[in-house]
Amino acid sequence: INYNLAHFVASYGKASQIPPSTCPEVSFVGRSNVGKSSIMNKLFGRKGLVKVSSTPGKTANINFFEADGIHFVDLPGYGFAQRSKAERDRWAVLIGDFLESERSFNLVVSLVDIRHDPSKLDFEMVDYLRENEFNFVVALTKADKLSRAQQARQLASIRKQLELPAEQIFVTSSQTGAGIDELKRRIAEHCLD
Ligand code: GDP
Repeated sequence: INYNLAHFVASYGKASQIPPSTCPEVSFVGRSNVGKSSIMNKLFGRKGLVKVSSTPGKTANINFFEADGIHFVDLPGYGFAQRSKAERDRWAVLIGDFLESERSFNLVVSLVDIRHDPSKLDFEMVDYLRENEFNFVVALTKADKLSRAQQARQLASIRKQLELPAEQIFVTSSQTGAGIDELKRRIAEHCLD
């Protein structure tokens, strides 16, 4: 997969506006500020393609990118506390409608900050993906903020809390590029045949 050709496709405020899938799709979910934009930019090798927001959770849109015939879907970050109830409700509807729609969900990448225990919404997301039999992986973000020993401890702890098999969770950093090859491997595994 040639990620260097990645480009923006379209942005949608409602799941019903999104045209049917025409190619494999990889969706990224996670709480606001988890590092979703950063990891997508790292994947694409392009600093500003996916907006890295300094004020998290400003817009709740679903953004589509394309690289080498594969769609990469940036779902709005959840759990931004300062957002109004109306905004949070809109988020829940948008994500819910998207995940419930008839699409090519080749892989969902659920992002969780390696430094903290998963939030209530992280647990809900993983439970939802598992119960509905999505192909998904959990990518732990911002590993560079911890020592190697701390990374290993957090990986084991979060894996246990989320009740995931070892192959379904791995450590990443958009700062150092750690785990990006692993992410690419998983994407290729689910999108190429
Ligand atoms: P998003 O809201 O999930 O899209 O998160 P962003 O990608 O905008 O990142 C939120 C903040 O975390 C920004 O200040 C980023 O610079 C920082 N960040 C993201 N990924 C990493 C990482 O791997 N390492 C470090 N040290 N900081 C990161």
